[in-house]
Amino acid sequence: MLAFEMRRSPLTEEQTGLFDALMASNLPGFRALVQSTLKFQSEILGFAPALRGAPQRREQAYADEDLMHAEVFTDGTALYPIVVERTTRRTFQWFRARPHGEEIVERESPYAWLTLYYIGPEFGSTGLRYLEAEVNRAFGVSLKPNYYRSRRFRELATEGTAHKLKPTENELQIARLLANRTMRELALAIKSTGGLLEKDLHRQLRDKDEDVAAAIRDRLLSADLIRSDLVVICKRTQTQVARVASREILEKSDALGVKCACGRPFTDESVEEFAYITENGRALLDASRWLTLLVVDELRRIGAPEGKIIIEHQMGGDELDCLAEVGGELVFFELKDKEFNIGNAYSFGAKIGIAKPVYPVILSTVGVGGDAKEHFQRAGLSGDSGDRQSDDYEADFRVIGASSQRAPVRYIEGLDQMRVEVEKLATEIYTQEAIRVLKRALQVASVDPFELVGAVAARVQEGAAMGLATTEERPFAPEAN
Ligand SMILES: [Zn+2]
Repeated sequence: MLAFEMRRSPLTEEQTGLFDALMASNLPGFRALVQSTLKFQSEILGFAPALRGAPQRREQAYADEDLMHAEVFTDGTALYPIVVERTTRRTFQWFRARPHGEEIVERESPYAWLTLYYIGPEFGSTGLRYLEAEVNRAFGVSLKPNYYRSRRFRELATEGTAHKLKPTENELQIARLLANRTMRELALAIKSTGGLLEKDLHRQLRDKDEDVAAAIRDRLLSADLIRSDLVVICKRTQTQVARVASREILEKSDALGVKCACGRPFTDESVEEFAYITENGRALLDASRWLTLLVVDELRRIGAPEGKIIIEHQMGGDELDCLAEVGGELVFFELKDKEFNIGNAYSFGAKIGIAKPVYPVILSTVGVGGDAKEHFQRAGLSGDSGDRQSDDYEADFRVIGASSQRAPVRYIEGLDQMRVEVEKLATEIYTQEAIRVLKRALQVASVDPFELVGAVAARVQEGAAMGLATTEERPFAPEAN
């Protein structure tokens, strides 16, 4: 998976000058791509080229007029672009439309922004932590995590009823238990029947294996998804006449003279263990909450920020299972603990119309039916023929490279595919972000053509040789007149 992270801080005008201090500092294990490239170019040319896109060069750059400094560090594994951007009217609006830190958007715009990016294989890497500390020290700032935002996500979060879910590690462990189909089927059978005699549990399993049933029962018990009581079954009528938590209570009942209707004391009747669902178990099985928890966990693993995942979002008569903001894009998950069929496809189409996600995803524990897939194909939702949407970005800022065309419907068929497919989705989103950032940062990695031509013109004016550094021989050097 490709991971993408951002850290940002406002800068004063004075602080922008500290970029050179960062570049002069010793960063063991890191190499500076832009600085090295410019140095090489200046050696060839015989003069130090100015940065392209610097603020004084407004006539040539439209979206880049605010770029003051940029560098791309690498440690051989990941890329760490760092950018200083002067705030202009345009960038301020761009920040409002796209990236921002929670604490920043409503404030008066600072003189400039300092942004450190991470493009590499993992979130929370030691390389990023190290570089972040160095940047903080060089600039005298405290970088904060920063995320791109989706305007559509913000709109949805304020419409309808939504709740945000922060699963605990314990809840996740139990949800992972329920991801096992046999485990889940047995728990569901216990829930839907109101409880089962433990000696009958194996009858609920496909292969009717008693040992497997006993092992599952133990796991469900220790996770507090089910509990076990004792039921007293009348030997004469074969009906359940009492249910208690322990044998002790039966003995006490005997001592008190409590009897079965047939006249026998309880301890003389058959006593069986009885499994029933707990509140905890019911909460996780209702509406396949366990599945939602697992998806939320996967979304956190791919860097969806805390609080940017909404579940069971009610809008009109529809429920949107899971909405998330990933890399500034709205992702919509429809979750099914059964086959996703043609009927589901129609309602899913309607939900896409409401949510307007950039990435619609169907996750079915079983699979997506062929007729449902055909329907999406006919409806133009599965290929790249989907209608264009402009979700996130102001039209003005498309020049920066953002395009929010809706991606085709993605299918995740089977829980064993969940992690790999969610990671693929993250890679797709972050690749676009990473390219956008690098396009911007690498603009400064080449000599300014204005300055280069200007230097040549000046030399011509002086009637002198160009004086650019080159190889010793100079076979095609102009003849001196
Ligand atoms: Zn009886």
